[in-house]
Amino acid sequence: MINIKENVSQFEGKFNQALKKGERKSSTVQVVAVIKNSPIQLTKEIIQEGFNHLAENRPEGLLEKQNELNNQNITWHFIGNLQTRKVKEIINRIDFLHSLDRLSLAKEIEKRAENSIACFVQVNISGENSKSGIHPDKLEEFITQLADYPKIKIIGLMTMAPLLGDETVIRSVFSRLKICQEQIAKKKLPYAPCTELSMGMSGDYQIAIEEGATYIRIGSSFFKSN
Ligand SMILES: *Cc1c(COP(=O)(O)O)cnc(C)c1O
Repeated sequence: MINIKENVSQFEGKFNQALKKGERKSSTVQVVAVIKNSPIQLTKEIIQEGFNHLAENRPEGLLEKQNELNNQNITWHFIGNLQTRKVKEIINRIDFLHSLDRLSLAKEIEKRAENSIACFVQVNISGENSKSGIHPDKLEEFITQLADYPKIKIIGLMTMAPLLGDETVIRSVFSRLKICQEQIAKKKLPYAPCTELSMGMSGDYQIAIEEGATYIRIGSSFFKSN
């Protein structure tokens, strides 16, 4: 059985602990509920619990959920790999893109977006081959090149820590992302304020909050069986 209320209450306990430990204010950390594996009924329940930032990782999933949840006041996030040929289907239906990782994607967004779009550049801090994202050494160059795409606004950086890493490794991935973020932010590029950090999932959000996350992406903590 999946008890959303119970899951939310467990989450909130740990979330508040992390805020305290990291000396963070709750208003500085936006929780994004990742609904990629959750059926529509459970998605409605998480909205009822007050979570109105939702994320999908497949264009089909996004369109399906948007159709079923019409008229609700939801902020939509896209996470995970976005195929260039799918950009036109979703780019005008989302508020945040967490996975900008290549110029070909930027180019397609520039062509298809009707308005400016808030993007996180995905960075592969951990260096795992299986993970997408820009290598940290290539980040500055990539951000510089994005000046040519005025519809793209770089609000911050995103990363994923290794799933099986121990706490020290995970913490160092998050703190290195913050260092990259600060380096970009201090350039004061008008198109790349880069003030935000999208980091932390169900297994590691407490560490991410302590290390400065401003967006955390939470799926299984909300939708797990009890
Ligand atoms: C699935 C997913 C999440 C959420 O993961 P959980 O461990 O279920 O919280 C966060 N970010 C990305 C990019 C994902 O694909």
